[in-house]
Amino acid sequence: MSCHYDVWPRVVRAGGEGTVSLRARSPHGRFDDAAEYEATIVPMEGIGGRTVRAGLRPVAGCLRIPHTFAAEQEYALAVARCDGEARVPAGEFRVYAVGPDLFARRPFKGDLHLHSSESDGRESPAWVAAACRRIGLDFMAVTDHWKYAPSLDAIAAFAGTPIDLRIFPGEEVHQEPDNPVHIVNFGGAHGICPLIRAGEPYLSEVRAIAEGLGADGLPPELRFAYAQCLWTYRSIRAAGGVAIFAHPYWIWRAQYNVPEALIARHFADQPFDAFELLGGFHRYETESNLLQLARYHDECGRGRRIPVVGSSDSHGCERGELFGWYWTVVFAPTAEFADLAAAIRGAHAVAVEALPGETRRAHGPFRLVKYAHFLLREVLPLHDALCVEEGRLMLDHVAGDPAAAAALGRLQGRTRRLMDSLWQA
Ligand SMILES: [Zn+2]
Ligand SMILES: [Zn+2]
Repeated sequence: MSCHYDVWPRVVRAGGEGTVSLRARSPHGRFDDAAEYEATIVPMEGIGGRTVRAGLRPVAGCLRIPHTFAAEQEYALAVARCDGEARVPAGEFRVYAVGPDLFARRPFKGDLHLHSSESDGRESPAWVAAACRRIGLDFMAVTDHWKYAPSLDAIAAFAGTPIDLRIFPGEEVHQEPDNPVHIVNFGGAHGICPLIRAGEPYLSEVRAIAEGLGADGLPPELRFAYAQCLWTYRSIRAAGGVAIFAHPYWIWRAQYNVPEALIARHFADQPFDAFELLGGFHRYETESNLLQLARYHDECGRGRRIPVVGSSDSHGCERGELFGWYWTVVFAPTAEFADLAAAIRGAHAVAVEALPGETRRAHGPFRLVKYAHFLLREVLPLHDALCVEEGRLMLDHVAGDPAAAAALGRLQGRTRRLMDSLWQA
């Protein structure tokens, strides 16, 4: 219902005074300047009690509802037209009040783990980037197996082009058969794989780490593998990247990707920056993501605070599967890499599953999941609608259309302005 109305702001300061404005987007449902309206403001979590605002009169079809939003929670604003003693429902609208720490952050959608035709994906790195904008992402990285260069190709394809998608470098590191763990380097200033390929000093450093490892819970045959993981996480961080522990419950050759002893040690030590809570598993492989979720909640129950991300791990944008199914919402002050990385490491992110035809589901810390569900319902669809056109133009640019860059320039800043208008001034 409320998509037929402009509602602003959608996100207000908890504990503060605010005025929510409502205006119909079509003549149907327009607020009548000659009529009187009443708004019942209902706090979803019951904090502050419900309030009735009577005697509201629209001006030029715009109805303004002042209110003090007592606490961080979602609010329903049920509006009715007064017809004598009768109250004729005119719509229900939603806003969310957030505390100052969250108010200072904006939601940024991103996919931190994607493949291109430079490893085993289908489309070029530039195509993958453009397709990411088309589905409403604010940032992404191509993270090909053992290859950092494709992520730079995606960045180079749009160098000097006025776009709002942030394209970051990345790669996926794994060292089978000695070590089954897959680790994503998101945003590191250089690739880690060349250091591994060089052999030395990598091997000596890993051996030294292995010798220093405590024996608790780790079978001798996994010590070297775990030392390799520690070396990789450290090296990614040294390059300024976010080190992601990826898809431990992916089923490969009838086994979970990572043996239990290694998973347990990962959660005990948390040498990674973020856990890939949701990864690119097909519909028939839901078990892997479910196990990752159950494990996450179990580990949090032991008092651990585990930063999470969701990633498609897509190997093709146009095949109708995986791409766009799993992504991350990061709550950060800006979409600059340093802010995104700090927010992810600080557990200011949720993993989202958005399978076609199914309800979108956010997973992660309760406070953020609650807020994210409001944003997924009331705010992000507006953002995503603007991104579609930008993504199409980015694909035209990749295809060599000389007019695409100028058209993109005219759209630049549009999603930012939209979001600004939806947050209380
Ligand atoms: Zn992988
Ligand atoms: Zn992958």
